[in-house]
Formats: sequence, C-alpha cells, structure tokens
Amino acid sequence: MKSLKFIAFLTFFLLLHYAGTVYSQNSCSTATKIIYSDSLDAIHYDIHLEDINLTNKTIRGYTEVILTPKVNGLSSIKLELEQLIVDSVKVDQVIKSYSHEGNTLTVFPGSTLGISDTLAVRVYYHGTTFVDPSQCGGFQFSGNYAFNLGVGFNSIPHNLGKAWFPCIDDFRDRALYDVYITVPNSMKATSGGLLQDVTVNTSSARTWHWKTTYSLPTYLISASIGAYSLVTDTYNGIAGQVPITLYCRPTDSLKVEGTFQHLKNILGIYEDHFGPYPFERVGYTATAEGAMEHAANISYPYSGWDGTTSNEWWYAHELSHMWFGDKVTCASAEDMWLNEGWAVWCESLTLEFLYGKDVSTEYLRNKLKNVILNTHVTDDGYYPVYGIPQTITYGSTVYEKGAQVTHTLRNYLGDELFFNGIKAYLQHFAYQPASTCDLRDFLSSYTGVDLDDFFNAWVFSPGFLNFSVGYMQATPSASGYDVKVEVNQKLLETTEYANSNHLEITFLGKNWQQYTDTLIFSGKQGNKTFHVPFEPADAISDLHEKVSDAAIDRIFVIKNTGEIDFSGTYSKVLTNQVTDSVFVRITHNWVAPDAMKVANPAIRLSDARYWKVQGIFNPGFKANGKFFFSKSGLDKNLLTGPNDSIIILYRPDSRGDWMRVPFTRLGTSNIGYLIVDSLAKGEYTLAALDKSYGMAEPCINNKSRLKIYPNPAHEYCTIEVDAPDPSILTVVDSKGSILDKMPFRPGKHELTWSSSSRGPGVYYFHLSTLSGADLSSEKMIFN
Ligand SMILES: [Zn+2]
Repeated sequence: MKSLKFIAFLTFFLLLHYAGTVYSQNSCSTATKIIYSDSLDAIHYDIHLEDINLTNKTIRGYTEVILTPKVNGLSSIKLELEQLIVDSVKVDQVIKSYSHEGNTLTVFPGSTLGISDTLAVRVYYHGTTFVDPSQCGGFQFSGNYAFNLGVGFNSIPHNLGKAWFPCIDDFRDRALYDVYITVPNSMKATSGGLLQDVTVNTSSARTWHWKTTYSLPTYLISASIGAYSLVTDTYNGIAGQVPITLYCRPTDSLKVEGTFQHLKNILGIYEDHFGPYPFERVGYTATAEGAMEHAANISYPYSGWDGTTSNEWWYAHELSHMWFGDKVTCASAEDMWLNEGWAVWCESLTLEFLYGKDVSTEYLRNKLKNVILNTHVTDDGYYPVYGIPQTITYGSTVYEKGAQVTHTLRNYLGDELFFNGIKAYLQHFAYQPASTCDLRDFLSSYTGVDLDDFFNAWVFSPGFLNFSVGYMQATPSASGYDVKVEVNQKLLETTEYANSNHLEITFLGKNWQQYTDTLIFSGKQGNKTFHVPFEPADAISDLHEKVSDAAIDRIFVIKNTGEIDFSGTYSKVLTNQVTDSVFVRITHNWVAPDAMKVANPAIRLSDARYWKVQGIFNPGFKANGKFFFSKSGLDKNLLTGPNDSIIILYRPDSRGDWMRVPFTRLGTSNIGYLIVDSLAKGEYTLAALDKSYGMAEPCINNKSRLKIYPNPAHEYCTIEVDAPDPSILTVVDSKGSILDKMPFRPGKHELTWSSSSRGPGVYYFHLSTLSGADLSSEKMIFN
C-alpha cells in the first residue's frame, strides 16, 4: 500500500517534530502472535454483498466461510467482524447461537469439533462499515463509488477484511473466494480473480460474480463499485496470456492509455526478474483513496490516472506487490518490510530498466538522503527494518529504509545470485506467508552465501553504517602497482560494527583507467593490498553506489569553468581554471570525522558530518570548494558556546592530522558557505573554534578593522584596514568567485579599490589573518 496523503502527512510531521531514539532487535522471535488462525483454517469464502447503499453508507449481505479446525476439541468458532451488525448465523445450514463482542464473532456449533471436520459457517449481517481513523482503510464510500482497502494505517492489527466480511483476518490464513456484488444496472462491481458472470438480479440490478483461483489472505480480496468505464487489454506473459482490466471513472477514460503506457513493459521487467505474473488477471480499479495492492484488482487512486508517466512509479509499486506481498505475504506486521521495502525498491528497478541505471541510482540516492535525514523524525526513532512497532508498520523505516536494505542485499549477492535466489524464494513460498528469517535462511541456503552477518547488520540493527577509504599507498611492482588500501567503518545511531562487509574499491588512473575489486572485512577497519595494473591516482569506495550507507556522493567530470552544485552533498565546486578534464567525486559522510591526532582544546570538530573529495585532478585545475553550514540546522550541535566561531579543517587522508585552511564566508554567520580557495583531494570538516583560547582571534565584522565607503559605491570605494597581524583582504562576488586578494602588513592602511573591470553587483570583502582567522566582513553594492 502506498498513500500520497500519507507521504504528505510524513512531511508535515517532519517539520514539527525532531526526536531520536535507538531501538534494536536481534531475531525473528517477537513477531505478532496469531490468535485466530492457530485453531482454524479458512478454506473458502463466498461473499455476497446484496446491497451497498451509497446514500446511507451501509452494506447488507452474507458470507459463507468453509473452515476446518487445526486442533481437536473446539467447542466454538471465532471469526472477526468489525462494527457490522450480525443478523443470524448458520452452521451447515442450521441456525446456531453466537455472540458478537467487539470484533470477535463467536459461533457455537453445538458439538465439539476436531481436525477431521469441515463446516460451512454462514453469517448474515448489515450496517455501517468501519473506516480506519486515517481515512485510508476499511470499507469506504465516496460520492457514487464504494470500495474497500484491505489494511488500515492506524488499525492494530492492520488487517481489515473484517470491515466487510466475517473472517480469519491475519497475514497467514489464505483462502479462495467467490465474491458476488449486486449493483444497479448503471454500475459495475470489481473484485479479485476473474469475472464469472453478470446475472440479472431484478429489473434494475445485476449481480457481478468474481472468482479467485489463487489463495489470498483476507486483506487482499477486494470489492469496488461505481459507474466505471472499462478499458481492456491482454498481456502476453511468459506463462500465457493474462487479461488486463482498467476500471476508471468515465471522465478519466481518455487518460488510461497515457497513464498505463508502460504497464506491459513493467510486467515484462517483473516477470524477467521474479517469475511469471502470479494471478489470473492484471487489474486496476479507480478509487478515491489508496493505493492498495488487492490481488489482481489494485485499488488505484483517481489522482494516479493523469494521462502521463509521472505516476508510473506508483502503479509499478502496487504491481510489484503481486509478487512481494500477494504471492508471498509477510508472515507478520513486523515483517512488513518484505512487502513494502521490496515494493519501493521495485520502483527503482522499474526506473532502471525503463530509463537506465543513472536514473534509478539518482532515485535511490535521493531516497537515501531522505532516509538519513528524516526517517528517524517521522518514525520517532532509529529502528531496524524488522520488528517495527505496529504504530509505524506503514512508516518510512519499513518503506524507504527497507528499499535501501533490499538494494544493498542485491549488490551483496550480485545480480545473478540475487535474482535467481529471489525467483526461487518466491516459488518456494508461493501463496504462503514468509518471515524475515525465512528469507535469510532460504537465500543463504540457495546462494551458498551465509547472510547472518548481513541480516544482523542491515535488518536487525537500527541506524546506519558508513564506509570510507582511509588512505591508499601504492608501490611499484612487477606488472603494475601493489596498492594497500585501508577502509574504515563508522556507525550512525547503531552500536555494533558490521561483519563480512563487501565493499567495492575502484582505482582510478591518471589516464582515467579504472580497476575495481572487492574488499571483504569485518569490524571497524579493514585493509587489503590490491594488485592494480596502473599507477592509481585515487582509490574510491563504492563508486557505483551499491551500498546504502550513511553517505551521499556525487560525481562530475569538469571540463569548463563555472559553478557546479554537487547536490545532495551540501557542497559546490566553482572552477576558475581547467586545462584538461578532471574527475571529481565529493562524498558527504553523515558521521563524525576522525578526531584530531593532536588534540587542540580550542577546536571542536563536527559531530555529524564531513566531506571527502576524490578524483583525478591535474595541475591545470583550480577551483573553490564551497561547503555549506547551517548553525540552526545541520550544524546545530557545533556552535554552542558564546565564543564559538565556525572554521573549516582539511587533511589529505586518514594518516594526516586536521589543519586549518583559509576560507571566506558567503552568507550570514548563521547559514551560508565556507569557501576554500584551492580545492584539494582529501577530507574537509567544519569545526568550532573557541575564541576564548586566544587562538588567532577570529572576529567576524569587527568594524574597527575594516571600513569601506561609500556604500553603495559607483566604481570606486575607499578601504581602511587596521590589521593586527599579517592579513589578507579577499573580494568575492555573489557567486563566491574570488575577484581580488590584497595582503597587508600589521598596521593601518588606506587604499582605493575599483570595481570597473567587474561591473555593477554585490561584492563581499573579507579581512582575515594569514593564518585564516576572520577579522571582518563587509557587503558592498556597486552600481
Ligand atoms: Zn506498498
């Protein structure tokens, strides 16, 4: 299920709410106890909705369920039915007594039942249907349409088959269905399976009979009614022809073709990777709310039928549930990432095969950034994807983080093992429930790759891992270079270092050669000496973004001067000179940088993030690096004391120590960019300098140090500098380009500066000591 309204809700809360708690989970042992299906097995439901009253928002009908006991000595039969009123109950066509308290309908058959019995329990009922408090789930009415949504976001347990028929309402119990819905002649009724017939009921009403041939849990059978238009098609699947039905509002009928133009392509992608389409038909029915992956009859909201491809990720998500959720159903709410995390990951798989790997990588990268920044806020804590509390079963941890875990698992195994393994898993557990541990154990056994360490780290632990190259050291050897690489693992809101990690290392040569190998390591640090056939200019971890760790990176090949936004990394590169193309990758690591090797009490490093700049540089490349800071946002823990001033530090790699580098500041003292005027390969981090230690006294906007007038000026201005130490005055334009640099000896100076060669505009003048301490800044307008 995926609701756009729900996404908006998440975004809203993200603005209001910021909290973090770490939870951990170690096995599959805490899954919800199944109450009803412990003692009974539902085999078949005949659901008869004889009257759906759109005016009163009520239903009336009866359901006959064929049951067999799983235990001996049963004296009562417990079914679930929410809010509706029971009129009478028959067992094997004989009226029996019952009680209906809360959601529990207890039927007394009058004899003791055992595992050899089969009985037909028929329940007649009517009334106002239950709707989940989120307005998404239950049996709902909207104008001249009515429909069910099989789960409710806020209902615990979430299953809402019981909103419209008496049933064993959990993720495990699967049955076959015949659904009979009586509607006026002007309307149509849809459900799962195939349409058997439409019979004349009265002169003004007809009964639509749908029948399933594949078993389903109760939340996946559906009913929708309305004055639909129907568009049909046929998909030539690998196991035969599959009918397609698209029931839409008549006003949307011309948009169907545009909306679903890639439906068959997407079916092909899923069949290639997951096996034959697993149900009788491919169906979408328009509903006011949703979307919901009812088997063979997906409820797809009106807003999705827009005539364009802009929402195809959405119907692709629901379609992927036919394999992940419907063919194989998560065994409990705690396993929901097996449905939803995989479906969100299928969105990216769809993009990969429709539009190419770059598009899907960008899609996953944006989602990863969102997960790192926001998921713990919307879900109110850092959770493992397995074992999630039921209040956030349909939250971002399950969906978005679940997708990142699936992506990482795919690459951990490699495509061949992964997709073959998944196909076999879907076949092995076909039309059955499967748990997280079932998936782990099946894939381990099928692929021969022990997945215990992977699941412990990625599925059963909260928070995030972060991997980076500490340093590389190359020495010439017989036919190339022996290159020692040290990699480091850091943790974000989790406590255990992951073991058996697979991390790709790509070596780049100065002639742009590439050589990739995998480093497998456990714990905090790993190293390996690789034989590389050329002299490496750099060693980059996870160049192809196969691991969804707490890092966002971006690559550009820079051929021209000008500014490039390395979006997602909170950095920009302003190239002032480039004589030959350069390859630049910037990684924004969402973990604290290594500590200073020689502690400096006046300097405190960021506790949240740092950058790594890598690539193939050459002497003709000169660029400013612009690193974003926000005192009240990303860096809210950094500048806390009254004497703190933000600075930027650099080190070439993990063997060196952090050093201060000169910078200029663009923006206010609260938010903006620190600009480093010669970007180098290595690591950069923000730090707080405590001025009370008297170190080079950074003092932004000490007006007595720098006076510039008039302001606004026309071509010329007068600058007065009072420098306490050897100092430099830097002039920067509004894009951060450095226009001029003027050194000063200690003492007072006065000079005239001309803007004539640069033209009118806004210019920033920054006075700092040669050791990098800010003295004063002035914003000037030239007209
Ligand atoms: Zn879903």
